[in-house]
Amino acid sequence: MNDDAPILIDRPIEHVGRITLNRPRTRNAQSTDFLYALNDAFDALAAAEDVRVIVLAAAGPHFSSGHDIYEADPFVGVAGATRGYRQVGTWSGYDRKGAEGYLHREMEIYIGFCERWRNLPKPTIAQVHGKVIAGGLMLIWPCDLIIASDDAQFCDPTVNMNMNGVEWFGHVSAFGARKAKEMLFTGEFMSAQEAFRLGMLNQVVPRAELERTTLDLARRIASKPTFALSLIKESVNNVEDAAGRVSCQRAHFANHHLLHWHNHAQTGSILDPAFFATAPRKSPHSK
Ligand code: ZN
Repeated sequence: MNDDAPILIDRPIEHVGRITLNRPRTRNAQSTDFLYALNDAFDALAAAEDVRVIVLAAAGPHFSSGHDIYEADPFVGVAGATRGYRQVGTWSGYDRKGAEGYLHREMEIYIGFCERWRNLPKPTIAQVHGKVIAGGLMLIWPCDLIIASDDAQFCDPTVNMNMNGVEWFGHVSAFGARKAKEMLFTGEFMSAQEAFRLGMLNQVVPRAELERTTLDLARRIASKPTFALSLIKESVNNVEDAAGRVSCQRAHFANHHLLHWHNHAQTGSILDPAFFATAPRKSPHSK
């Protein structure tokens, strides 16, 4: 594996398309390039007639370190950084000043992409190992099923940046209100074993068995009728949506942007600079 292409696609077994996150040196940090490439990969496999199940895996020691906050200077924000990409949603105008351009950008590449991936009409399986931090959760939670190795760990440490969680608010549906609050209040890691016990994971297996277990599950699902699979997914997703998932998501996102711009008004940065005093200014793994 190398960093030449941020996202790889292959067909490990018949009727299964696999996407591999491929920025291992940055621990799969999510740059704008990376997210658009990932969205293109989901689109390609959603459209591929021979693909019935999609697996999302990752290269390197960790699944994902989250958004690439070193992509642009966090002290001035990254509005405008979406220029040059094929726009997927309808929220444009990333160059607009103040909160407007930045909110539009996050609507497109965070909320918009996660919703598209969650709703694509084929079963998706996240194959997870190592650390999954903040924005990393936004890659696995939109998937239908999650298989993790026993070394996997999950956290959303955004409270340390004076934020209320990552943009896509999947915490409560992943493991319930009380544990969601614990994760968001403390910013600490949750083990794969605890995440499994709380219902966030379908299976936890030894690292050496992760790929085989995931592909075996994918093979079993891929043998079922495609139309039934897509409508089963619709039925289950509709239960969450009828319970107000989308409205809760939008309310969370509005609060998320209130904090971005509170931070900006107080400090000139959309994230609390106190975080950067304790974190390396530049990732040693940055390209
Ligand atoms: Zn944000």
